[in-house]
Amino acid sequence: MNVFDVIIIGAGAAGLLCAATAGARGRRVLLLDHNTTLAEKIRISGGGRCNFTNLDIHPDRFISDNPHFCRSALAQFSQWDFLAYLKEHGIPWHEKTLGQLFCDHSSQDIIDMLHQRCQAAGVVIQLGVSVQDVSRSDVFQLTTSQGRFQAASLVVATGGLSIPQIGASPFGYRLAEQFGLAVTELAPALVPLTLHREDCEQFAPLSGIALSMSAQAEHGPAFREAGLLTHKGLSGPAILQISSYWRAGEKVTLDLMPDQTITDFIDAAERRDKTLLNRLADYWPRRFAEAWLQRLAIDGNSRQLSKKQLAQLEQAAHQFQLRPNGTQGYKKAEVTRGGVSTRELSSKTLMAQRVPGLFFIGEVVDVTGWLGGYNFQWAWSSGVVAGRNC
Ligand SMILES: Cc1cc2nc3c(=O)[nH]c(=O)nc-3n(C[C@H](O)[C@H](O)[C@H](O)COP(=O)(O)OP(=O)(O)OC[C@H]3O[C@@H](n4cnc5c(N)ncnc54)[C@H](O)[C@@H]3O)c2cc1C
Repeated sequence: MNVFDVIIIGAGAAGLLCAATAGARGRRVLLLDHNTTLAEKIRISGGGRCNFTNLDIHPDRFISDNPHFCRSALAQFSQWDFLAYLKEHGIPWHEKTLGQLFCDHSSQDIIDMLHQRCQAAGVVIQLGVSVQDVSRSDVFQLTTSQGRFQAASLVVATGGLSIPQIGASPFGYRLAEQFGLAVTELAPALVPLTLHREDCEQFAPLSGIALSMSAQAEHGPAFREAGLLTHKGLSGPAILQISSYWRAGEKVTLDLMPDQTITDFIDAAERRDKTLLNRLADYWPRRFAEAWLQRLAIDGNSRQLSKKQLAQLEQAAHQFQLRPNGTQGYKKAEVTRGGVSTRELSSKTLMAQRVPGLFFIGEVVDVTGWLGGYNFQWAWSSGVVAGRNC
């Protein structure tokens, strides 16, 4: 039997930083992963440059049954603390847009940094290990493909269900249930939305067109970002953001001209002599303007519009409503909404209230960040907090 103080399952973002933090406290730490490489999601994130945090981290940018739960961890280890680590390791970064911070070179810089911190802290890392059984008497005992291990603390950092082809598994949710802990409803989030066949047929020829919009699900904030028409439905940052709030059967509302009224736009002096289609094509890609007018059954060649038609245009531009029929699922989702219920965990330590020594961190917990570096910040914050307490 190999004896450690702490065993961490999952060598992703949260698990690596947790291991380095606990190891630096002098704890004997074993970090296990069933993958043969470290932190695959960090590697592929942010188009290979890892959007590792955001300048504007606020608890209201995280979705959870208890929206206050993330507050303590985010305050205990903030985006500024993570930036201090990057400075220490000489990793260059830049802000892209909306406070989103990316590596100048590659995501590998972050993985190397986390790996170095683990090595410096004496963490034992074992990859390609499958955990077959976990039991608890006075300590946790693990039976794995590489032998039996025991530790007083067990940290579960196995992430969510998205992108199963790079190692995602429901292990963490099952383990929570094994110990009698509640898991909230799970759903793919930060994911493209799919449309019913009729809508798809209308939008398919427009696939690839990006529009600046403000998008909103029925129960969530509006997001002012780009949206993308795809052959299956809707994607792009604005849509990914609202997908985290969208529930099956609900509609989404798109404001396709968020900064002005359509009347002001088409009445502008420089446009008055043009046809309606030509005027709208000054704002939207022409193919989109054409399809949109067709959908409204308004003639694009007209130059004069009735009051009723103008009202119809305003309504359709600012309150364009669609009822998606689903999402593209975990294959395309960036994250999983829902997870181990925050009611079960201490927000100050991430330890299960009813199972001393058992911790859950990162995406496996019912805390889901917005697009833009929020999910990694939750992984860092929760990882460090558990690392200081396990
Ligand atoms: C394509 C993509 C791009 C993304 N881009 C960004 C971005 O730019 N910014 C951002 O903030 N977020 C991004 N995310 C989300 C972010 O990657 C995750 O929220 C974050 O990695 C969660 O960290 P974690 O440590 O909880 O889980 P993970 O990083 O997923 O790590 C979990 C680890 O557990 C291991 N594991 C799973 N099951 C088992 C098991 N049964 N036994 C042993 N090990 C197991 C996995 O192999 C993995 O190494 C992106 C996600 C995807 C899919």
